[in-house]
Amino acid sequence: MRRLPIFFLVDVSESMAGENLYKLEKGLGAVVSALRKDPYALETAWLSVMVFAGRTRVSVPLTELTLFQTPELPIGGGTALGAALDRLMDEIDRTVTVSTPDRKGDWRPIVFLLTDGHPTDDASAAVARWNRAYRSRAHLVAVSIGGGADHELLKRLTEDVVVFNDQAPDAFSRFIGWVTLSIQSQSRSVSAGEEGKLSLAKGEADLLARPGPSARRGEEAGVDDRFAVFVGRCVSTKLPYLVKYERQYREADTQDPVLARALRKKFYLLKTTLPLKASYFDLCAEGEGAHPAVKVNSMDLVGGQPPCPHCLSPISMAMHGAGCGGLHCLRGEGEATCPWCGALGFYGASEGGMEIGRGRG
Ligand SMILES: [Zn+2]
Ligand SMILES: [Zn+2]
Repeated sequence: MRRLPIFFLVDVSESMAGENLYKLEKGLGAVVSALRKDPYALETAWLSVMVFAGRTRVSVPLTELTLFQTPELPIGGGTALGAALDRLMDEIDRTVTVSTPDRKGDWRPIVFLLTDGHPTDDASAAVARWNRAYRSRAHLVAVSIGGGADHELLKRLTEDVVVFNDQAPDAFSRFIGWVTLSIQSQSRSVSAGEEGKLSLAKGEADLLARPGPSARRGEEAGVDDRFAVFVGRCVSTKLPYLVKYERQYREADTQDPVLARALRKKFYLLKTTLPLKASYFDLCAEGEGAHPAVKVNSMDLVGGQPPCPHCLSPISMAMHGAGCGGLHCLRGEGEATCPWCGALGFYGASEGGMEIGRGRG
């Protein structure tokens, strides 16, 4: 039987944490249950889920639809897209059957790459490898979630780059519907023996768009700057957690639109804290994860100290300023052992040691 292999390569870096990842996880489950009701998909589609942050992990190897179980999507630090692409190509080599003169191999695999950030590694060698040996025998659909991805890089991988507007009404369920329809139509064409170009389902204009000429990094580029995300570590449990702030603007008091734009001030408002599992460290590149992910001046963080989501200590943004610089929770002033480096530190507001951490990038 000729299979239609489908790979989901999902960015699970900190910026995706929270609602987006939760909806995506539920969405994958919805894709699977819809496909299971489709006789063509049921006959041909095999699914795999790979997640990447600083490192890549195969959450579910290529599995037939009836046996596929939706994995939990973890969180990691970093966006090592180059390494993730290399792993994907290795996985294609390992699992996809190639046609030979006396045997029909699998259909061209479909890859859905979902990412919301700029790579933290050098992806050029992986991009070259992809274009040299894989581009002609796989369909890659690159989805920039919230428009925050490096569109120039994605366009070097595939013609099918779309920007997914995660702020649109019912964004995730409609997006999942679009993914499902695209897979269904491809499984229909291959069942009819046609191996054509992948025909992506028509997406409504407010949901999916072609990327503009160039997504600039910084203020207007989207997710990269939409949130400031910090990783702290619980003193009691040693487990990591996220503190997430959302970008806001303080508007200047003027009627002049040009002046208003020049004077408006950016700040970050506390949005949420999220407990993370120890698996966070498995998905961080060597040496990453110990320090805040975004450079933000502590003066721009607004909303007070949220409690630690693990032990409920009232302070979650204490910084080991005199030592490793890591963020952790704290019951109050006094001595505490830093869960990152193990050193004993004294924390007191008057000493200036309890300041909110400034990102180190
Ligand atoms: Zn704690
Ligand atoms: Zn420390």
